[in-house]
Amino acid sequence: MNYYKADLHIHTCLSPCADLDMTPLRIINAAVARGLQIIAISDHNSAENTAVAVATGIDHGITVLPAMELTSQEEAHVLALFDSAENILAMQEIIYGSLQSGVNDEIGIGYQLVVNELDEILDYNKRLLIGATSLSLGELVRNIHSFGGIAIASHIDRHSFSVLSQLGFIPDDVAFDALEISYSMGMEEATSRFGSYKGIPWLTSSDAHSLGDVGRKYTTFLLQEPSFSEISLALKGEREMRF
Ligand SMILES: [Zn+2]
Ligand SMILES: [Zn+2]
Repeated sequence: MNYYKADLHIHTCLSPCADLDMTPLRIINAAVARGLQIIAISDHNSAENTAVAVATGIDHGITVLPAMELTSQEEAHVLALFDSAENILAMQEIIYGSLQSGVNDEIGIGYQLVVNELDEILDYNKRLLIGATSLSLGELVRNIHSFGGIAIASHIDRHSFSVLSQLGFIPDDVAFDALEISYSMGMEEATSRFGSYKGIPWLTSSDAHSLGDVGRKYTTFLLQEPSFSEISLALKGEREMRF
């Protein structure tokens, strides 16, 4: 077993709110420089930059997990990690089919760039990726699990777009695999505020939208190898994890 530093919540230039230089290649270079061994690429409601990120990660000796940050009907964010391109693309199809209609405001909010491993722009995604889907939290999590994914309630301490900000509580009948405490909150404060949710594993991550933010917070896992299946075991209590 070895310790691995994992930052499982990073946006690329496909998220309209992220910096345009957040390309998979630059993110991976930043992650390697900061000593991370596992990252997840998690754009809002889209996985179109994940395949290039996974391939670039292999070239640079870092594990990149395909992920998305999904928006439920209640406007709560859910981080969804997957083991393969096949499963995340199947989930993306469901998301695209349930995403609020409309066109991205490129000037007001930002471009949504699909890029290749050389940082060249392949496409400008025009969907309203920042919008909500018509799927409830329960439906989202069930769909994530049906494709073998991991469902994490994003930044539960944030005052907007979190399960707690939208509902006021974590519903018992939504089977989250973990709760994310955001980069800005320490463990002590989180424990005093959210101690009643200790029955679900906690992790933390950077939620980086800029290169300088990559790895500003991470979770350390004690794993046999840096892989999706080992992180799954950690969230089931079969591997050690801490932050
Ligand atoms: Zn979020
Ligand atoms: Zn995010």
